[in-house]
Amino acid sequence: MNSPTKITHLDALNFDNCFVRELPADPDPGNTRRQVLGACYSKVLPTPVAKPIGVAVAKEVADLLDLSDQLCASDDFVQVFVGNRLAQGMDAYAMCYGGHQFGMWAGQLGDGRAINLGEVINRNGERWALQLKGAGATPYSRNADGLAVLRSSVREFLCSEAMFHLGVPTTRALSLTLTGEFVVRDMFYDGNPKAELGAVVCRVAPSFTRFGNFQILTAQRNPALLKQLADYTIRTDFPHLGEPSPDVYVAWFAEVCQRTAAMIVHWQRVGFVHGVMNTDNMSILGLTIDYGPYGWLENYDPDWTPNTTDSGERRYRYAHQPQIAFWNLGQLANAIFPLLGVAPPLQQALASYTEYFEQGWQAMMADKLGLLAYQPATDDELCSSLLGLLAKVETDMTIFYRQLAELSAHQAVSDEALIAPLLLAYYRPEQLTADYKAQLLQWLRDYLARLQQDGLADDTKKARMNAVNPKYVLRNYLAQLAIDQAEQGDFSMIHKLLDCLRHPYDEQPEYQEFAEKRPDWARQRPGCSMLSCSS
Ligand code: AMP
Ligand code: MG
Repeated sequence: MNSPTKITHLDALNFDNCFVRELPADPDPGNTRRQVLGACYSKVLPTPVAKPIGVAVAKEVADLLDLSDQLCASDDFVQVFVGNRLAQGMDAYAMCYGGHQFGMWAGQLGDGRAINLGEVINRNGERWALQLKGAGATPYSRNADGLAVLRSSVREFLCSEAMFHLGVPTTRALSLTLTGEFVVRDMFYDGNPKAELGAVVCRVAPSFTRFGNFQILTAQRNPALLKQLADYTIRTDFPHLGEPSPDVYVAWFAEVCQRTAAMIVHWQRVGFVHGVMNTDNMSILGLTIDYGPYGWLENYDPDWTPNTTDSGERRYRYAHQPQIAFWNLGQLANAIFPLLGVAPPLQQALASYTEYFEQGWQAMMADKLGLLAYQPATDDELCSSLLGLLAKVETDMTIFYRQLAELSAHQAVSDEALIAPLLLAYYRPEQLTADYKAQLLQWLRDYLARLQQDGLADDTKKARMNAVNPKYVLRNYLAQLAIDQAEQGDFSMIHKLLDCLRHPYDEQPEYQEFAEKRPDWARQRPGCSMLSCSS
């Protein structure tokens, strides 16, 4: 049901384009690739496409923008969110930013295939920036085409929403649209280019500012513009900190550290591996941003990275994400140093990241295990031996924690009965040797004893665990199956996954198939276990 206050025409959206109004634009209006100096963005229009086809809309995101159902189903919606028409009040631009890629300063990067449409103020007074990904080249496209393929767009669309419903801070996705045009990609950079279907995702977030937006200005030795962007960001996105001042800059950086730590704790909780944690892919708001070659841990392997481009060093592997976030925050501290001219307050704030992360991680593990609170004296050992056991044999992380919640802390059971619910989580039964089972049983007995100290009723404990251990995540092979079908013109699996992943913590018998272990065929299939940056 649409309430009368819903917007029925996109020209009625209330735009307040603060970013372009308050920050300097690149004076060159042309859409040529170049180094941009002394500016935070370049005005650039999306490139029109031939025959756009709407594939999916996330209704919760449409609700954030107060858009009516009819509007979301209209041709005008498709035309606007593929980039064929600018609605009234839109003012399109690409942001200038730099970044460290795989630990090396890469200079200017910028929105090479993202075009911002403007900032909507919704009826609750919230600010939501809209951004098309894959809508054509910009001055920051370097040697690439500014386009995106259906494969990567389905992945971004579904994962943004899956993460939101899991409770992980993230940018959102309003829509997924086919352009009706082809895009050539060499998926594994191995000399096998292929024409793929082009697509555009409209992303939505309070702001798309990244660490790299600040880094580029310091690299260009432009402290005045750095201050302007920092002041703008504090006033717009961190208004609770008060008017910018040296103390407020430090408080702001400390908050970025805190938000980033919280985001990484969530990633570790749900088994998400970003895959490309370059500083240009780090949001100043602590949101998960830029869904590229990300993946989900299926079997718990702390060394796993989905990104084939990173298969040598594995810089961005699951277990390394907390340290990488710290390193990236260090680069942000370097970038904003000219605001203060002294290092110790920033160093102190940076050091607090480790505390935030540790505390957050401990609380998260206590929640996952159904404990009332983390007690280092007992729980350090409990957690480290559990994680060691999970990694030792191929264990499905998601299924394991869900099944663990089934155990009773108050009924005496045989070894067999104790282990039985967990057997579902193992990929290779032959790895469950007598020795392994003995270690697991020992751990389970210790765990039950620990639960008994808390004295929670089994039902209460189970409900608490199931509220933080999802039943459904966007398993890599599920996204790939949805892509395979979409490439054949069947979008039904995209819709089913979007629907199922709205309630990741609930039992949904109709979607039981999406909670199953990765099938064997997906073990080595590109797109399921191996992804590249090509998208
Ligand atoms: P990523 O590592 O995917 O976040 O991208 C790094 C940089 O490359 C960013 O500046 C992107 O905008 C840019 N980029 C990635 N893919 C493309 C593309 N197809 N066309 C233009 N720029 C791109
Ligand atoms: Mg990026």
